[in-house]
Amino acid sequence: MKALFTITLFFVATTFFNTATSATHLSKAEKEGIQLMREEEKLAHDVYVFLYKKWNLRIFNNISNAETRHFEAVGYLIETYNVKDNAKENAGDFKNKKLQELYNSLTEKGSESLNAALEVGALIEEVDIDDLQKLLAAHPDSVIIGVYQNLLRGSENHLRAFTGQLESRDAKYTPTVLSKTDYNRILAGTHQKGDSGHCVLQQNNCRNKKNNRGRNRGSGHGRMCGQTRWSQN
Ligand code: MN
Ligand code: MN
Repeated sequence: MKALFTITLFFVATTFFNTATSATHLSKAEKEGIQLMREEEKLAHDVYVFLYKKWNLRIFNNISNAETRHFEAVGYLIETYNVKDNAKENAGDFKNKKLQELYNSLTEKGSESLNAALEVGALIEEVDIDDLQKLLAAHPDSVIIGVYQNLLRGSENHLRAFTGQLESRDAKYTPTVLSKTDYNRILAGTHQKGDSGHCVLQQNNCRNKKNNRGRNRGSGHGRMCGQTRWSQN
């Protein structure tokens, strides 16, 4: 009996140890992937908030809320794997230079017309899908896969939503990042649940609530599970 207890204790201890230390064993590429997605979700959010103010079209407001949840889901990975958070506090501010340039050019383009704004939306989702597919192809661990697949489902929903809006305005969208085959496959799909990243957050809600609360930065990024703390301004 005592031996059984010792063996059980050993397994519990090693499982805990493995869980506790796996966080520190991400490759550089995996860490950079998380940092990229963190800022990419912020980019989507900030651009859609900007475009909603400009055009007052509800799709931008709805999807920007989903992007807040995506941002929080990547925030969960940031905390779980102890990755440096590069996301800046202010809307339209990015550490990643390419994303900064993208924000600048897309807000400029999206200001030209409502159709241009919807095309900007579709393009952001294309970029998002492309990056997520590349990161998933590198076979990250199962927790990261879970989050990325949720974000991917969300982005595919968003791509269908933006191109659907364009279609209803008699404008045809041509993909520039994804292949025609990939694009057509996604457009032929139907709305998928799980675009919010909430499944992941809810599973880990209790474990992360304390951390999240501790790391909330005033008006800044929404890290509280299930709450939108990110100001829409
Ligand atoms: Mn997203
Ligand atoms: Mn999106």
